[in-house]
Amino acid sequence: MTHRCDALLVGAGIMGATLAKLLRQLDPDLQVVVLERLPALAAESSAAMNNAGTGHAANCELNYTPAAADGSVPIAKALAINGAFELSLQFWSALVESGQLQDPARFIRLVPHLSFVWGEAAVAYLQRRHRALAATPQFADMAWSTDPAELRAWMPLVMDGRALDQPMAATRVARGTDINFGALTRALLDGMDVRLGHQVRGLERGGAGWCVEARDGAGQSISFEAPFVFLGAGGGSLPLLQRSGIPEARVYGAFPVSGQWLVCRNPEVIAAHDAKVYGKAAVGAPPMSVPHLDTRWIDGQRALLFGPYAGFSTRFLKSGSLLDLGRSVKPYNLLPSLQAGAENFDLVRYLVGQVLQTPAQRLVSLRQFLPQARAEDWQLAVAGQRVQIIKQLQGRGCLQMGTEVVSSADGSLAALLGASPGASTAVEIMLEVLRRCWPERLASPAWAERLQRLIPAWGADLGRDPEQLAQWRRRSDQTLGLIRSEPK
Ligand SMILES: Cc1cc2nc3c(=O)[nH]c(=O)nc-3n(C[C@H](O)[C@H](O)[C@H](O)COP(=O)(O)OP(=O)(O)OC[C@H]3O[C@@H](n4cnc5c(N)ncnc54)[C@H](O)[C@@H]3O)c2cc1C
Repeated sequence: MTHRCDALLVGAGIMGATLAKLLRQLDPDLQVVVLERLPALAAESSAAMNNAGTGHAANCELNYTPAAADGSVPIAKALAINGAFELSLQFWSALVESGQLQDPARFIRLVPHLSFVWGEAAVAYLQRRHRALAATPQFADMAWSTDPAELRAWMPLVMDGRALDQPMAATRVARGTDINFGALTRALLDGMDVRLGHQVRGLERGGAGWCVEARDGAGQSISFEAPFVFLGAGGGSLPLLQRSGIPEARVYGAFPVSGQWLVCRNPEVIAAHDAKVYGKAAVGAPPMSVPHLDTRWIDGQRALLFGPYAGFSTRFLKSGSLLDLGRSVKPYNLLPSLQAGAENFDLVRYLVGQVLQTPAQRLVSLRQFLPQARAEDWQLAVAGQRVQIIKQLQGRGCLQMGTEVVSSADGSLAALLGASPGASTAVEIMLEVLRRCWPERLASPAWAERLQRLIPAWGADLGRDPEQLAQWRRRSDQTLGLIRSEPK
């Protein structure tokens, strides 16, 4: 028997959940089915402990604002990510206001975002970054300090026992967030038609659009037919995209990077830190390996993570197969992948170094952030798996660190590849899927009007009207409970 629906979404992570919710908000009559291979929702990258839970708004992540060759700090990417995060906040707020998401503290909390650097060159860079960002309405509230007393007030544990023999500086955005993307995914999918334990094995054009074959937990083959399919399978998206046979898939290869955290086990240490403190990446380190010390809120409990330490595994999913990487290599992406490897030798060397790290070496990196850290307070845990894209551009293979929506020319299939900035910008990414694949519906008065109510900032330039921005932010802050009195 074949099951028919209007939209078939593969993967019950934050991306599939966001698209499912958006579609049902825009047209409550749409039949949306989500297929998930695991027996639980959000058990891969979107699980709380598999990612850092940072509401990426470019407040503190220095990899979004690398210095240019002339020393200036371009901020276009930071502004774009900040704008994308604002869309997410607006969507979640609208759902809270309409009663479709309850108790926002279960998935979002206010946690200040800090960038912290030391050494003359890094301090000079951070100051230039601060000047450029603080001059915009989006980042006007970003504070800057080189004063050890103020730095101590912002992050006492980070300053405890720190030698003051070199310049150091930090920026701080009080309106930073920690997000439990696992809890959010589960809340978004509440009441949706989700088939757990359904692994999609193949798809081909046919019927009203696509015929999708899945295997359920009992090993039974089940067929689905839909005019629109979204591959939101995280690391599992590329293999499925390749199986679809669309020509757009042929420029992609993949490179998995795994991660590990040190998780704090000492309640006193956890309670003494309240911030996400991001540092500068080591030479060769991929952007997602920028070290950070993160206050987290998971199931109502405060937690503290440090990392991620990068690692290497040939799996594309944490619960995937060691053969994933090998199987993704095709005649059309072999050469570009080898080229990308050769051109990113610093990254390869960095990953090898990370894999070979001993516990004592990990403690050394932790102590750059927490000089008084004790090994016995910290436990190593495996984070989620990220699959970076190797894209063929002008005949060469280039390693890409962002996310990328790939869609078929007729808009019947879309897939999400890549990793960063990820979950925080899920709403903007899924709007891009709708723009490409549902253009007529999106332009229709009914959808346009609904979207305007749900996400008023979509398409707006946030820097153009500071008063409007402040008003939007006040609404999200109040609805999502992102308000607290700040210590002076
Ligand atoms: C170490 C680390 C730190 C991160 N930190 C942050 C952060 O601080 N902030 C942030 O915004 N983002 C962060 N990210 C990125 C973020 O976690 C991801 O962008 C996001 O979770 C991806 O969501 P997804 O729905 O695409 O994938 P996933 O959450 O991985 O979901 C994909 C789902 O598809 C299912 N699936 C796979 N194959 C199949 C198949 N064949 N059939 C059916 N189902 C299938 C999987 O089981 C899984 O449930 C981080 C990621 C990592 C790894």
